[in-house]
Amino acid sequence: MALMWNRTVDWDAGDWRRVAACRNTEPDLFFPVGTTGPAIEQIEAAKQVCRSCEAQEPCLDFALATNQESGVWGGTSEEERRKLRRAWLATRRSAASSGGPVGSVSPVTLRR
Ligand code: SF4
Repeated sequence: MALMWNRTVDWDAGDWRRVAACRNTEPDLFFPVGTTGPAIEQIEAAKQVCRSCEAQEPCLDFALATNQESGVWGGTSEEERRKLRRAWLATRRSAASSGGPVGSVSPVTLRR
């Protein structure tokens, strides 16, 4: 049996990494150890970089669609992404059960 991947989300469209504001920052900033103590300031510093990033939306789309569990992506912490991803998956299940287009449900639209 061949494995097939049904790509229903265009999660890596465009060339967003080329304009990523974090390209020239220390990568460790975006991957704090833990979520308490000094990590809180580190997460906030990473989010500050994200706020000025042109690629924030596609970056978050990518992180949610590919289930990036660690680090700061698209201006969100790990816990924030877990909540967004749960909501996105629920919306996709709902769209699928009603016969709607699942692929058109962007994870980022749930953030607004
Ligand atoms: S949104 Fe943040 S993590 Fe994503 S590319 Fe931009 S700076 Fe990097």
